Parts: sequence; structure tokens; C-alpha cells
Amino acid sequence: MENGMNIKVIRISANDNVGIVPNALGLSKGSVLEIDDIEVKEFIPMGHKVALKDFEKGDAIIRYGHIIGYSEENIGAGMWVNENNISLGLPPDLNELELHAHYQWQQQPLEGYTFQGFINEDGSVGTKNLLGITMSVQCVSGLTEIVVKKIKENLLHKYPNVDDVVALNHGYGCGVAIQAPGAIVPIRTIKNIAVNPNFGGEIMVLGLGCEKLRPEQLIAIENKDTASITYMQNESFRGFESMLHSIMDLAEKHLYKLNQRKRTTCPASDLVVGMQCGGSDAFSGITANPVAGAAADLIIRAGGSVMFSEVTEVRDAIHLLVARAVDEKVAQSLINEMNWYDEYLANGEADRSANTTPGNKKGGLSNIIEKALGSVVKSGSSPIVDVLGPGEKIRKKGLTFAATPASDFVCGTLQLAAGMNMHVFMTGRGTPYGLSMVPVIKVGSNTALFERWFDLIDFDAGRAISDNKSIEELGLELFHLILKVASGELKVAADKLMLHNDLVLFNPGPLT
Ligand code: CA
Repeated sequence: MENGMNIKVIRISANDNVGIVPNALGLSKGSVLEIDDIEVKEFIPMGHKVALKDFEKGDAIIRYGHIIGYSEENIGAGMWVNENNISLGLPPDLNELELHAHYQWQQQPLEGYTFQGFINEDGSVGTKNLLGITMSVQCVSGLTEIVVKKIKENLLHKYPNVDDVVALNHGYGCGVAIQAPGAIVPIRTIKNIAVNPNFGGEIMVLGLGCEKLRPEQLIAIENKDTASITYMQNESFRGFESMLHSIMDLAEKHLYKLNQRKRTTCPASDLVVGMQCGGSDAFSGITANPVAGAAADLIIRAGGSVMFSEVTEVRDAIHLLVARAVDEKVAQSLINEMNWYDEYLANGEADRSANTTPGNKKGGLSNIIEKALGSVVKSGSSPIVDVLGPGEKIRKKGLTFAATPASDFVCGTLQLAAGMNMHVFMTGRGTPYGLSMVPVIKVGSNTALFERWFDLIDFDAGRAISDNKSIEELGLELFHLILKVASGELKVAADKLMLHNDLVLFNPGPLT
């Protein structure tokens, strides 16, 4: 190395015996680290781990101050530590966790932060003003698509306060074991999405008529007055045009009411932010997720709600979360959701090692323990006040664990059902993920990604490394961005580019 300028690698805890390579070009063989003048023995790519000591076979490998695995061979200091030379340890035993929470979190409330939102009759607040068209069965998805197109072409311009119309498309409804215990999940998901705050309480259901999932089942009593149902098999229809005509009339009634909605000043406590990550790399746990966690703490100090999810990505760090449960009941609920998912995976003859994708590994995440430790930091540091089953509606202000699979679209769909009005999505490898129903702020974990995907990523958390910004500083910046996007002042990249994913239901029940 020139001028004794030895290379910095990243350790989160002083106990970490591996360092993360921050350099975009990686570490070349022969370069010397700042820590103990360790000489790098082989090329190590950005985001990957370099051994900071000589490991013997079986030695614990420590990152974030926790054991992420054991060396499978002797690994000398300065060598590359990756999925090929780390073994996966066991997940925390759910029966051994201490349920009595003593978690202390005393933070000053944050006053005075507001955004411009659409207040609904049920007290929820929207960040968009959308007509959402719910369907009871996949049979009508073609019809729904045509209806959406026709509304955009012929009606939307008459209702300038309505932002858009969206099809709440799904594959459920017929050929399903509707009485199976698992059926509750997709059914409540569809039902709760229809009342997401961004749809203003206007519920428009299209159905066929003979499906197992009855459209009436999708409408709660309190929403009856604002809901409409159309069955294609209604015998008064003569041909497709007559169906369309009737549906367009109904759509116009809903649009008329939605058009009355205006943005007004709402406290930041009306935010319901869903956090998730996808396409993670080794920086996700150092930059993007901690920045999201800092923003989460600010939202909660301002009285708002934050959800985090993705069971397989918290399972290996569950001991850290149970310790943050607000009481024993919440701690037990967390454990119950983990147990349920352990069984669900076992029934499918899968286990937690099925998580971590080839992209995760290429990005430097060797296994699910390392991924989980970096994933849970997006929840910030506040106590966990509630736990939701998949597709349930949020009940409390503060930090909620909403149990979902980690799959991006499934998690997003379930967080929509829970009632999120803002979505924050962290990525290291890059993903075009977006939803048309709610703004999705994409946070990149490294500046190299942000520079490459300058029009796809909304926020560069990589500046924690490339620009030496503090996590707190970036967290505050992200919090301000969330308020601005929630107000409709700024469009997110996914909305500008119209990059929107489909809804994907979680259906643990059988098909018939
Ligand atoms: Ca995900």
C-alpha cells in the first residue's frame, strides 16, 4: 500500500472477527488492512468478509457481535470468508427464550411533524386517492383489466382529485378449500386490502357468481353502505357490453365520492409505514436497514405506526426481538408466529436455509443468520407493541411485527392488507419492486448501486460509507422524505417509471 494508508474494513461490534469490504472494486491480494496490518491473501469482492484472525476449523465467526456460523476449515487472517467455508449454526430454540420483558426505551416524543393526507371516515389516513377494484375470483380478472382501462380512458379525467384506478388482482376464489384453517389468510388479506386507507372506504367488488369465496364475505358490516358488488352471472345482463355499462355506472358513483377527498394537514402519527427488504447484500445490515431503523424510531417517537415482517429473516434473530416485546403476551405471540412458520416450512420439507438467494450470497451474505442479524435492525430500537398474523389489520400505534413470508410481493401484499399507507423498501443488489396502491420508497444500501440505478432508487443509504454520514443523520433525512412522499409532493421512482408488481396472496391452505 502507498504511504502506509492501510485499508479500512467495517466492523459493527468490536468483537467481530471478520470485516466487511467497503471498496467498490473489492480488496486486491497484497493490500494491507488498518486492523493489525493484516495482509489480504486473495481477491475479496465488495460487501464480502475478510478474516481478521486465523480461524481453525470449528471456530466461531462473529459479525454484529453475534455468531453467524463456524469455520469449516482453517482460514488464515486476510482470507475470504464466505458461504463455502462457513457452516450454519442452529436457530435460537423457541422453548428456551425468556418471555419476561424488561425492555426500556425512553425517548422524547417528537412534536410538530405533519404531512398532507386524505382523512377517512374510519380515522385512517391515505397517501393516495385511488379507486381500488376488488375481485372475489380470478375468473373476472380479464373483465377487471378491461374495466380499469376503460375508467382510465373515459372517466378519470372527470374526477381530478382521484389519482388513479387499480385492479386488486389475485389468483384466489375458486377451486380452494374454503373451510381449511389456512383459508383465513388469503380471505382476510383480500378483505383488508379493499379497505386500505388509500381507497377511501369505497369498495367495488367484481365477482362471477358461482365462486366459493362469496363477494359478501369480503365486505365488513361497517363498510356495507359504501360497497358495491357486481356478478357477471347476474341474469339481467345481455352480453358483455351490458355488464360493462353497469360496472362503469357503479365506478362513476365511487369516483364521484372519492373526488370529494382533499388532502389536509395530518400529524405524522397518522403514518403507517411498512418496512421490508429484498435483494439484500452485506451492506444492507450496515447502511440501509439501520437507516430505516433510525427513521422507524423517529416515526414512532412522532406517534406513528411502523411494521416490519419477513418471518424467515427474523427467525435467527428472534432472541433479540423477544427481548424487545412490550409484555409477555406479545413475546409469546412472536414465538407462536415463529413456531407456525417452522412447521409450515417443515411440512413443505424446506428449512430456513432455503432463504438467502444466489444474489444475497454474491452480495456477501453467507447464510440466513448473517442475513437475519442485518435484517432486524430495520425495526429500529423501540419496543414491539403488537404481533399480527398474515393479512390481519394493524391495531396499534408503535412498532408491530406483522408476520409474513419474506418474498417481496407476498410481504408487500400482506402489509397492504395490514393498512400501510407508506412502504419503505431496502435493497443492496437492486430490485425494481413497486406497488401501485401505495408509494414505495426504495433505499439502496451502497452508493455504487445508487449511481448505477439513479432513476430506480429513491434514497442512497450507502452515503453512510461513501460520504461518512451518520446513521442518525440519514435516518432523519429518510423520515423527511417519507413525509414528503406521503404528502404527494414527490413521486417515488417506481411511480414515475410505472414499475408496479402484482399482488401475490399468501395461501397456506390447499387447493381442490
Ligand atoms: Ca422481502
